[in-house]
Amino acid sequence: MGFMDALKRIFGGGTSGAADSSDPNGLWYHFRCGRCGSVVRIRADRRNDLNREDGPATYVLRKDVMDNTCFQLMHAELWLDDRYNVVTAEVSGGELITLEEYEQALVEE
Ligand SMILES: [Zn+2]
Repeated sequence: MGFMDALKRIFGGGTSGAADSSDPNGLWYHFRCGRCGSVVRIRADRRNDLNREDGPATYVLRKDVMDNTCFQLMHAELWLDDRYNVVTAEVSGGELITLEEYEQALVEE
């Protein structure tokens, strides 16, 4: 149990979809392309995009993500707990980053 708690602490902060009062069902995730390094922002919908499945957490979210620079397709599989915090993230072709890392990358571009 301690291991999962540690993961939640690592992923629970910036990677959970920030609540936006104008978009209560929106969850935002940020990715960095493993090939060219560009960052992408993806919206998921709590009602439509999350599935309850047996696995490491309550919900699974699967998304194909494409950046605007090299157009490589990344495949993301995120497991979320019942408060929509990311518990585990597997991204082929890229990585999940925090909102802070995303904003930092935009500043540097
Ligand atoms: Zn790319």
